[in-house]
This record gives sequence, C-alpha cells and structure tokens, in this order.
Amino acid sequence: MTALKLALQKSGRLSDDSLALLKRCGLNFDFPKGRLIVPCDDFPIDLLMVRDDDIPNYVGNAACDMGIVGYDVFREHELTVNNDRNIVKILRRIGFGRCRLSIAIPEKFEWQGLESLNNKRIATSHVASLKRFLKESSINASVIEMSGAVEIAPGMGLADAICDLVSSGATLRSNGLREVAKVYESEAVLIAQGNESPLLQTHLDRFLLRLDGVLKAQGSRYIMMNAKRQAVADISRVAPGLSEPTVMPLAGTTDRVAIHMVAAENVFWETLEKLKAFGATDILVLPIEKMME
Ligand code: ATP
Ligand code: ZN
Repeated sequence: MTALKLALQKSGRLSDDSLALLKRCGLNFDFPKGRLIVPCDDFPIDLLMVRDDDIPNYVGNAACDMGIVGYDVFREHELTVNNDRNIVKILRRIGFGRCRLSIAIPEKFEWQGLESLNNKRIATSHVASLKRFLKESSINASVIEMSGAVEIAPGMGLADAICDLVSSGATLRSNGLREVAKVYESEAVLIAQGNESPLLQTHLDRFLLRLDGVLKAQGSRYIMMNAKRQAVADISRVAPGLSEPTVMPLAGTTDRVAIHMVAAENVFWETLEKLKAFGATDILVLPIEKMME
C-alpha cells in the first residue's frame, strides 16, 4: 500500500513533541535507534527522521508528502525558494515549539529604537527573515550569516547585534544580551506541497481529521458542576466557547441539577470563581483526549 511520507526532526527540540502528537493521533510505531524510515503499524504513513532544515526542501520537491517544522524554518524556505514547484504551504499550526525570532543587543549598545540598527552588523542563521524585516522597517544593516551559536557573535566582535530564536530569554541573558524587537512568533507547523495523488489525498484527509480532533481536544476542557436549575443560563455564558450544556437531574433534589459542558479554551481560576458566584458547587474540570464533531 502506498503510504504518505511524513518528515520529522530526527533529534532536536521538535522531535519528542512531534512523536507524542502522532501517538495521540493513533499512529503506532516502533523506533529502533538510528533508523531513518519508520513505518506506522496501522496507518498508511511512513515517518522520515531528518534534519529540520532539510524538511521544506524534501516536501517541496516531493521526496516527502508532509513535514513538521518550526514556522521559522518554513518561513526561511518560503522567502528563499525561487522555483514554483518547490513551494510548500502550511496545513495546520500545531502549537508546540513556541518561540519568537527576535533582535537582541549587548547591554552596552545604546538603543533608541530600530533606527539604531542602521549601519550595524547583525548576526543570524535566519538570513532571509531578517533581511525581509530590515527591508520592511527601512533599516540599512549588514546581515552576517552564522549556522549556530549566534548569541556569542557580539562578544567575539563579529557583530553588533543578533537575530535569533528566543523562548524564555535565559540564553540571551546569560550572554549579556537584551531583546529589543520581535521579527515574528513561531510554533511547529504541518507543511505539505498540496497536490497529492487522489489515493494519498484520501490518506491525508483521514490523517487531518484525526489531527484536528487532537488539536481541538488539546485546548478544550470538560466542565462538570452542580447548581440551581435557574442558574443554568448564567452559568452557560461564563466559560469561553461553551457548547450547549447538558443538564441532568440530581438524585434526591428537584431544584439542583448536574451541568456538563465543553469549553473550547483552557479554563482558568477566574472562570471557576465566576461559576461559584452563580452558586455552582462540586466543580470539576477535566482534559479531553479526543474530539470529533
Ligand atoms: P537540526 O539538527 O535538526 O538542524 P536545529 O539545531 O536546527 O536542529 P533545534 O534547536 O532543535 O534545531 O530547533 C528546532 C525548532 O525548535 C526551531 O526551528 C524553532 O522553531 C523551535 N524552537 C523553540 N524554541 C526555541 C529556542 N528557544 N531556540 C531555538 N529553537 C526553538
Ligand atoms: Zn536545523
């Protein structure tokens, strides 16, 4: 049977989350160390374990059907590809690997806004993204390409500033750098070329249905509580993106009922406090594993 080829980062920040997500989509695979192509037992998908930078090209030239990469890697490809056949598109944003591409400067740099970057040298491994940002901001700076360890460039006198991925900011701080401008936010994305054969498209649609179920469930919560029957209308307006509540009788009482509902977003303490203010008791908030409409 022809299987879809899905490229994943072999080892790096996206690897564990990518595999965990696929498991949640019901894909079963065994992972002998060092193996580069891993077939799934019960779904027509083969996993290809490669370096993340190569994934957009593999997808673009149809060596693979889909890939999971950081938006930053996708964007670099999108800005540099000059052959229509190699264009790839984002099918889904998948939420993990969140970070931002930011410009950072050493403490001694006198910052007066983006104009301070004029005639300066900026080190980065995201050359195309940085160049686009500088052009859009009408800044004239030289871009110095580095393949990694960008944060050490100012200390070594190679650059005046850097443009790199940041999540907590701890790496920047430990190198005496300060974040001053954001180029864009990034998260993992599922990419594809978008012209599959009808057979592969059927597999892809089936996979996307599962993925959407998992992504939707991830953000959603199941809320259960008891409350007075008259409070049902108020309560169902409290939590974000609530579906119509299920209202059930409670044994031994006529005025109190059990209310169950699904909230499309995470439920915060403030929401529970509001529910309580409407007289709700025994409130339980549960994660949802899978969801399909
Ligand atoms: P490879 O060996 O596959 O080329 P890499 O070193 O280029 O790996 P990683 O550092 O594992 O890549 O990062 C992979 C992706 O993780 C990035 O493209 C980015 O989207 C995301 N990411 C999330 N947080 C961060 C962070 N703080 N620094 C770097 N990347 C991050
Ligand atoms: Zn890489």
